[in-house]
Amino acid sequence: MTRFIFITGGVVSSLGKGLASASLGALLQARGYKVRLRKLDPYINVDPGTMSPTQHGEVFVTDDGAETDLDLGHYERFTGVPSRQADNVTTGRIYSTVIARERHGDYLGATVQVIPHVTDAIKEFIAADCDDTDFVLCEIGGTVGDIEGLPFLEGIRQFGNEVGRDRAMYIHLTLLPYIPTAGELKTKPTQHSVKELLSLGIQPDALLCRSDRPLPPEERRKIAQFCNVQGDAVIEGLDVDTIYQVPISYHQQGFDQVVLRHFGIDDAPEPDLTRWFEILERIRKPEGEVRIAVVGKYTNLLDAYKSLSEALTHGGIANNVKVELDWIESEIFEQDGALEKLEDVNGILVPGGFGERGAEGKVEAARFAREHKVPYFGICFGMQMAVIEVARNLAGIKGAGSTEFGPAKEPVVGLLTEWLRGEELERRTSEDNLGGTMRLGAYECNVVPGSKVAEIYGAKTVFERHRHRYEVNINYRDQLEQAGLKVAGLSPDGGLPEIVELAGHPWFIGVQFHPELKSKPFEPHPLFSSFVGAAVHQSRLV
Ligand code: GLN
Repeated sequence: MTRFIFITGGVVSSLGKGLASASLGALLQARGYKVRLRKLDPYINVDPGTMSPTQHGEVFVTDDGAETDLDLGHYERFTGVPSRQADNVTTGRIYSTVIARERHGDYLGATVQVIPHVTDAIKEFIAADCDDTDFVLCEIGGTVGDIEGLPFLEGIRQFGNEVGRDRAMYIHLTLLPYIPTAGELKTKPTQHSVKELLSLGIQPDALLCRSDRPLPPEERRKIAQFCNVQGDAVIEGLDVDTIYQVPISYHQQGFDQVVLRHFGIDDAPEPDLTRWFEILERIRKPEGEVRIAVVGKYTNLLDAYKSLSEALTHGGIANNVKVELDWIESEIFEQDGALEKLEDVNGILVPGGFGERGAEGKVEAARFAREHKVPYFGICFGMQMAVIEVARNLAGIKGAGSTEFGPAKEPVVGLLTEWLRGEELERRTSEDNLGGTMRLGAYECNVVPGSKVAEIYGAKTVFERHRHRYEVNINYRDQLEQAGLKVAGLSPDGGLPEIVELAGHPWFIGVQFHPELKSKPFEPHPLFSSFVGAAVHQSRLV
């Protein structure tokens, strides 16, 4: 029997609902249950694919090619359960579905309304594709009180009523602000937020209260009484030094126990949290430190590179070192003298990106890494820029460029209009809509035997996730290889370079896909482990 847990947020946004959901999922999983995590986002975009990363943070791509909210990244990292398109829905997607049904005549002449048509579509999404899952955790984006969130809250209210309260649980995440002049943690915003939920017909069963200091017993009693929840179902969510502490802290307060009690489960096995303790030990007691420069474009909002910074942390866990990140706007390298900033880093990473601004700075960063033999990791755009750099400066292809920035004399990186996915031919043109028309999701890549990446992966074929329109142009392969840049990974039909590596350099690898999306603390991605390992090696040389 599948049970459903709904997680809503109150008072302010950015309280870490995604992490809280992921942590609870991990705890239930550690007790042997099969979990799925889902996100319901109230914005009108069909998916976050067309949103600026500086507004909404990174777009997390799933194996099945969905462009989803970054919280799905937390879910995957914490539980290892691969997310799917079916795990993220937005108002835009719900309305598209409803409107398509209306046009198709499916509503048989009815006036199409938020209740029941939109709420029905929301409920369908919650219950879809649950297989034999024990717990489906659904996080509702936004904050209670937002106008656009109302249909979702109504949807989850109805859902709980229909499946019965013994199969549905509501958890509300709030903030307890500390007021220095009063010397107290204040419970009033939480009370108001719960009132707001109650006015929509939802009585939370547990409250997660974020605060920067412990919750005194008197405040806990007050919250329980005013918000009509059990005292032990008021869970303290203290700020922690690492996100990997969160599941353990919740467990220590009996959060998972409260959830099981709600569902009347009293024979659950104790959770096995060994792997969480091991990670914490490694994060808190590193044996060294390396400094990696991330040369990107959205460095003023670190959420734009969430999976990337996590994957680098995982690379640190694998090597028992702390990874310090220097976030650098690539544009600065378009001015003289700025490359000095890279002089004392142990590795340079150029991540994914779009558009011309700052591209030449990335080319410069790749050149610096190549010339100074600093480990270089180019991901997607970072690979494309490294290829352009080598083409221009080693292979003598002076006009090398990417058609992403307009017509290029030598389109070393170009728009691909047709490609194979398994047996199927996929197509796009430069006129296509921006949303969802990229090469998206997991594709097979054959690793060239004898290459460095073959050794790193220890595999002949790998599946990695993509999100891009442009490709390294295979027609330049010979010229690039003669210059030392080897194609070390290819699509199965041999037409798309997926990985390049520079001969005679300690570690210079570019990948057309996003390995950071598959890295987990328990299972650091081999490329990130190897890259951080190369940075450790480099740090011992200087
Ligand atoms: N802008 C490049 C492309 O579309 C790279 C995309 C990326 O880095 N994710 O191909």
